[in-house]
Amino acid sequence: MNGGFELRLSDTIAAIATPPGAGAIAVIRVSGPATPEICDRVLAPRVGPAFSRSRARYARLVTIAAGESALVIDTALATLFRAPRSYTGEHLAEISCHGGRVVPQSVLSALLAAGARAADPGEFTLRAFLAGRVDLAQAEAVASLIGAGTEAAARAAHAQLDGALSRTVSAARNSLLDIAAQIEAAIDFQDEAGDFEHESVARRLQQTGADLAALLETARYGAVLRDGIRIAIVGRPNAGKSSLLNLLAQRSRAIVTPIAGTTRDTIEQEVNLHDLPATLVDTAGIRATENAVEAAGVNRARSELSHCSVALAVCDISGPCGVEDEAIVKYAAASAPAVVVALNKVDIAGHDHGRQTAGRVADWCAAARPVCVSALTGEGRTELITAIAEASYGGHADERPDGALILAERHRLAVARAAAAVGSAQQTCLAGMPADFIAIDLRGALDALGEVTGEAASEDIIERIFRNFCIGK
Ligand code: GDP
Repeated sequence: MNGGFELRLSDTIAAIATPPGAGAIAVIRVSGPATPEICDRVLAPRVGPAFSRSRARYARLVTIAAGESALVIDTALATLFRAPRSYTGEHLAEISCHGGRVVPQSVLSALLAAGARAADPGEFTLRAFLAGRVDLAQAEAVASLIGAGTEAAARAAHAQLDGALSRTVSAARNSLLDIAAQIEAAIDFQDEAGDFEHESVARRLQQTGADLAALLETARYGAVLRDGIRIAIVGRPNAGKSSLLNLLAQRSRAIVTPIAGTTRDTIEQEVNLHDLPATLVDTAGIRATENAVEAAGVNRARSELSHCSVALAVCDISGPCGVEDEAIVKYAAASAPAVVVALNKVDIAGHDHGRQTAGRVADWCAAARPVCVSALTGEGRTELITAIAEASYGGHADERPDGALILAERHRLAVARAAAAVGSAQQTCLAGMPADFIAIDLRGALDALGEVTGEAASEDIIERIFRNFCIGK
C-alpha cells in the first residue's frame, strides 16, 4: 500500500506548524531520519552537548544561526523526540522561536539550506499514519479537530482522534472476519464437516448489520457538527425576521426598521446555537411586489429555501394571521427539508392567542413546528433553538457511550457500503446460497470498513485525504 510513499519517507522534512502572522511564538517542525544532524547545523545549544545529543523530550535553549555565516536569527526553545516515540514515529524536533513574518521563515530557510525538504501538506500526519502511530480515521480527526467550529464538534473530533470510531469499526470488522473464516472453511472443506449453519451465520450478520446501522445513524448529527446547519428565515415584511436573526445571533447585525420591505438582500450570519453551528440567512419577505429590487430579493428567498437545512417561517401574531402566512408556511414546508414556525411578537399577542395560532399552524401543515417567541423580549429563544435542532437532525446529540460518531462524509459512504454488503450477505445466507456467494459480500463489507481505518485504503485515497491538510500538520 505504501510503496510509493517509501521514497519520500527517507527525506527529512521541515515546516512552520503555526499559522502565519504576528504571534508571540511560532513552532517549526522537523521530522525524518536526518533530523538530529540537520538541526546540529542550525541550532547551537547555549550550554551542554550538541542538539543531536539532547535528552529526548527535554526543551533546550538554543541559538539559531543561518549556517556558516553564523548570522544569528533567533534564540529559541528546541525539543528533540527520538524515533519511534514522536508524533511521526521518526526523529522529530520542535523549535519554538519568535513569531511574526520574518523569524519563522528564516529559521525554516536555514533548515532547508541545511538539508531538510519543505514538507508537503499533511506530511507529518501522513508519516504518523504510515508509521502506524495512528490509523486513517484518527489522522483525519486531526484536521477535524483543527477545523472544529464549536466545542461539541471539537469533542467529537477528539473522540475520533482517540480512536472511538476506529474501535467501533474494527469491532464490526473483526466479527465479519470471524464469519468469513467460518465460511472460508466451508468452501475449503465442502465434502467434509465444512458445512456451516446458515441460520447462525445469518444471525451474526444481522447483529453486525444492526451495529453498523446504529453507527450510520450518528452521521446526521456528525454532518451538523462538521458543516453546521443553514436556516433560511422567511416571512411577511415586518413579521420580525431581522429582529429574530439578531435575537438568535445575540447581537445587532440585520437592520431592523418598521418600514415594510426593507430587507432587500439576504444577510448571512454564522452563529453558535447552543453548540450547534448554524448559518442564519435573513431573506426578503416572500410576497408579490411591483418593486424590481425587492422582487430580486424574493427570488433569492425562494432559492435559499431549497438550499437550507431548515426554514424558519416567521409570523407576526400581534395582528391577524391570514392567508398570506398560511401560504408562506406551506410554501416553506414544500420547498425546504423541514420548517419551524416562529409565532413572533407574543409579548403583544399574549400566550392564549399564541396557542390558538399554533393550532391553526398545525392545520396548515402537520410537519411544521410552531413556537411562540418574542424577538423583542427574548422569550422563547431556547424553545426555538430546540425546535430548530429537532427539525434539522432530530435533536439528539447522538453521544453514544463508546463515543463513536461519523463526522466525515468519506466515512459515512464507506460504512453505508459495508452495511449494504452485510445486508446482502445476510439475505444470501438466508436464501441458503452457497458459501462463495456470501464470501463475496463479506469481502465487500470488509474492504469498505478497511477504507475507514486505512487497512484497505488505496494510495490514491490516502494521497487525496492528506492533500487537503495544510502545511505543517
Ligand atoms: P422584518 O421586516 O421581518 O425583518 O421585521 P423587523 O425585524 O425589521 O421588525 C419589524 C418591526 O417589528 C420592528 O419595528 C421591530 O422592532 C418589531 N418587532 C420585531 N419583533 C418583535 C417582537 O417580538 N415584539 C415586538 N413588540 N415588536 C417586534
